[in-house]
Amino acid sequence: MKLLSKMTFKGGVHPLENKQFTESRAIEAVAPPKQIVLPLCQHIGVPCKPVVNKKDSVTAGQVIGRADAFISAPIHSPVNGIVKDIALAPHPVIGRTLGVYIDTDPQSNAPRQPAANRFDAAFDPQAYTPEQICTAVQEGGLVGMGGAGFPTRVKIEANPAMPKDTLIINGCECEPFITCDYRLMLEWTWQVIAGIRLAARAAKCTKIFIGIEDNKPQAIQALRQGLSQCRLSEEIRVVSLKTKYPQGGERQLIRSVLGRQVPTGGIPPQIGLCVLNTATCAALAEAVVFGQPLTHRVVTVSGCAIARPGNYYVPIGMSVRDLIEHCGGLTESAARVVLGGPMMGFSIADLSTPLTKTSGALTLLTIETSCCAKYNKQRTACIRCGRCLEACPEGLNPTKIAHAVKHFRMDRADEYFMSACIECGSCSYVCPAQIDLAGYIKTGKLLKAREKRRLA
Ligand code: SF4
Ligand code: SF4
Repeated sequence: MKLLSKMTFKGGVHPLENKQFTESRAIEAVAPPKQIVLPLCQHIGVPCKPVVNKKDSVTAGQVIGRADAFISAPIHSPVNGIVKDIALAPHPVIGRTLGVYIDTDPQSNAPRQPAANRFDAAFDPQAYTPEQICTAVQEGGLVGMGGAGFPTRVKIEANPAMPKDTLIINGCECEPFITCDYRLMLEWTWQVIAGIRLAARAAKCTKIFIGIEDNKPQAIQALRQGLSQCRLSEEIRVVSLKTKYPQGGERQLIRSVLGRQVPTGGIPPQIGLCVLNTATCAALAEAVVFGQPLTHRVVTVSGCAIARPGNYYVPIGMSVRDLIEHCGGLTESAARVVLGGPMMGFSIADLSTPLTKTSGALTLLTIETSCCAKYNKQRTACIRCGRCLEACPEGLNPTKIAHAVKHFRMDRADEYFMSACIECGSCSYVCPAQIDLAGYIKTGKLLKAREKRRLA
C-alpha cells in the first residue's frame, strides 16, 4: 500500500520504477575476489597518493592511499593481501586513474559480515564528542555514498562561518531499479538511526528529517517504529515524499521537505542545512562505534540482463566482471552495462572497472528495457514542444544549453546557467525527438572544466 504524499518539487518525471527485481532480496555478503583494484580518486576533492609499495603485505582496513588536503578522504584495503601493482586503472566516471591492485590472500576469503546486528535501541550518541565523531569519519575515509562522493567530515563538521541547524537524511532512492538504501533502511534500521544521531551531534543540528518516497511504505514504517522505540519520534521526523524522479536530488529534497531553495550555484550549508544519504549514515555509525573504515558497501545488481539480481554487500574495488559472475552472469540479451541507475549512471564498456565508494548499483539492461530502447530510436530535430523545460527540476532551458554546447559556445551555455544542471537526465527522458540533452550538457561541463584547468 502506498502512503500518498503531496510533498514534492516542481518539474521531474515518472520513469518506470522497476524496483520489483530486487526490493524483496535481502542483503547478501559477497566474498572478496582474487584481485581488487582501488582507484585513488573515489571522492570530490584532492585524489589520494599511494602510501604502500608494490609487493607490500596489507591487512583489511589498512590505509593504502591518503592526501593531506582538507577536502579529501583516505582509501583503505578491504582485504588482506599483497600489493600486486600501482598503475593506471579503469574508473567508472573519469575513464582512467592511478589505482592500487591487491591480490587477495586466499586464506582470508570469507565474506565480511555487516555490523548491523550490533546496534540496538539503547545506543547512546552522547558517548562520543563531536570531535571524536569527525575524526573517526575522516580516518574512516567516509564520503557521500549516494553518488556525489563529497567527504563526509567536511559536511558534518561545525563551521562558524556557515552554522547548520537542520539535518536532512536522503532515503528517497528515486532512480529506477536501485534498492540498496531501501534494504538498508529495512534491515539495518538501528545502524542507520545510530548514524543519523551521531551525524546530528557532530553537525550540531537540532532539527532532523528523513525524506523517503511514498513508494517505500515499509521503510517509512521501519524507521518510524525504530524512532518511536528510542522515544525520538518528535526529534527526528520521517517525511513521506511524493514518488517522482529526481526526488533524491539534494536540492529537490530540500525543496520538498522544507520548501526552501539553495541559491543557484550554492551549497546547503549556506542556508544552515546538512544533507546525508542513508548508506552514509550507516557507514558513519560503523566508523565511529567500531573504528571500521569504509571498505564495503551495499550494491544493487538489477535489470533484465542479469541471472540473479539482488542487493549485495561487496568489497570496494571488486570489478564489475567479478560481481556479474557472482550474480550468475549476464543473460544473452544484455545490451548495456550501467554503473548506477539508468537515469544518472555511467555506461561502461570495460568490465574490469572496479566498484568505488559511490557505486550504489550495477544495472544490466536489455535492448527492450525502456531506458535502453529509447536510445535506439531514431533521433530527429527539435520540434520545440517545450517538454524538456517542463521536466527540468532546476527550471533550466535544456535545449538552449545543449544547442550552445553543440556549437562550442560555452559563453552562451554559461548564460543559460549550464553549471546549475544537476545532470538528472529528465530532459533527455521526455524528449520526443530522442535528443540526449543531458549528454550534451555533461559534455559541456567537461569541456568547461578542461578549459579552466588549461588556463590555471
Ligand atoms: S537540464 Fe540538467 S537539471 Fe535540467 S532536466 Fe536536464 S539534466 Fe536535469
Ligand atoms: S523536449 Fe526535445 S523536442 Fe521538445 S523542446 Fe526539448 S529538445 Fe526540443
